[in-house]
Order: sequence, then C-alpha cells, then structure tokens
Amino acid sequence: MKVLKLENIFASYGNIEALRNMSLEIPEGSIITLLGANGAGKTTTLKVISGVVKPKFGKLMYQGEELTGKSPDQIVKRKIIQCPENRQVFPQLTVLENLRIGSYARRDRAMVKEDLQKVLEMFPRLKERLAQFAGTLSGGEQQMLAIGRALMAAPKVLLLDEPSLGLAPIIVKEIFEIIKNINRTGTSILLVEQNAHLALSIADYAYVLENGQIALSGKATELKKDNRVRELYLGVT
Ligand code: ATP
Repeated sequence: MKVLKLENIFASYGNIEALRNMSLEIPEGSIITLLGANGAGKTTTLKVISGVVKPKFGKLMYQGEELTGKSPDQIVKRKIIQCPENRQVFPQLTVLENLRIGSYARRDRAMVKEDLQKVLEMFPRLKERLAQFAGTLSGGEQQMLAIGRALMAAPKVLLLDEPSLGLAPIIVKEIFEIIKNINRTGTSILLVEQNAHLALSIADYAYVLENGQIALSGKATELKKDNRVRELYLGVT
C-alpha cells in the first residue's frame, strides 16, 4: 500500500521551473531516497509535499486523500513532518523547548510525554543537554535535535532533507543508524541526500532527479550497480 504519492507534479518559482512531471511513491513502512545534484529539485519536492510550495499541476495523494494545495498546518495534522535542511533549530531556545515545539499541534498529552522519553532514549546526548541553548550544540547534536523535534510530532511520514550535510562521518553513521531505527518503528521515510552511498545503503527504493525530472528510479540495491549512478553519484568510473 502506498502511503504517499506525487503524481505528475510541475512546480516553479516565478519563471524558473523546478519540477517537471515529477512522480514518486512511498510504500508504507519504507525508506525512499531522492538523489540528485545541487538544484535538481529535491528540496522543492519536499516543499510540495509539506505544502510550502504549491504545484502548478499534478496531485499529492496521502492514504487515498488528495492533499494538493493544502496548507502546511493541514499537512502537519496528517502527520507528514519535514525535518528541514540545515537543521533550523531555534538557537535561543533550549533543547527541551525545541523538542516541545515539535509537539505543538498534538492534543494527546500523555502520548507526547511518552514520545519525549522515547526521543531522549534515542538521543542520549540530547538528554544530557536539555537545558542547553540549541545554538550552542555541535552540528551533529543540532541534527539530532532537528530529527528529535520532528519525532515529537509523531510522524507517519518523515521527510528528511540532507541529514548528513556538513557532519563528520562518524556522526553521520550514528544519525543513519537512528534513521533506520525510526523506520523500524513503522514510520515511512523520504530521505533527500547528496551522499548517495549512504542513502542507497539504507533505502529500499531510490529516485534520481535531474533538472526537475525523474531520470532514473529503482530498487536501491539495483541503482547501486547502475553505471550511470555509479559514475555520476557514487564517484566510481
Ligand atoms: P540543493 O541540493 O542545492 O539543495 P535541490 O535539489 O534541493 O538542491 P531545489 O532547492 O529544489 O534543489 O531547487 C530547484 C531549482 O529551483 C533550482 O534551480 C533553484 O535555484 C530554484 N529555486 C529554489 N528555491 C527557489 C526560490 N525560492 N526562488 C527561486 N528559485 C528557487
């Protein structure tokens, strides 16, 4: 069963076309990765899903319901949660306050408390730093906080934009382990990544965007062997 589908999406900023006839599907419980060079349209794809960019044409379907053109708060209510590029934590708020913001739209207070405990178990580094201002965390810790904040919204679909950006390999490894664990608890994940090696190592299925269009798609294990992917995205010649 497909939890989320983009069908023939066209999106632009003024007269800059960012997506052209882009379609993708997220099967329930899977990790899907979206690869592509800078400017290929990856972030725009996430913004179309989260309601920040309205597509010119095409459809966004979620569990059989059409969500095209819905506002970001309507999308968040459906538990489709974006974890933005560059973390974007609130630097002058504490770790705990940042996490609480993730659950602002929820009314199930008892579950929120439980989820906070789960997030802190998942990220012991955050637990040790609850009262610390987010702006003083390391890059890796800020990324953990951004993911933790997204988890506080109890996502059914988690949209991750470049979680490895600017982080040391050892931290990236840790974060990718956590992403796998989040997926094991049943959350479907759309992972946008520049690091194709890593993304293909955890994803079930991958799409490659070039100039706003899907150039290739397939099982992650198969795309890893694809010559064009190897040459352009895996640096193997
Ligand atoms: P990156 O990996 O560099 O983040 P991306 O694949 O996420 O790239 P997008 O950010 O989706 O790419 O951008 C797709 C295209 O749309 C690019 O040509 C970009 O310059 C353009 N674009 C993105 N945001 C805007 C904006 N707010 N106004 C005008 N053009 C934009």
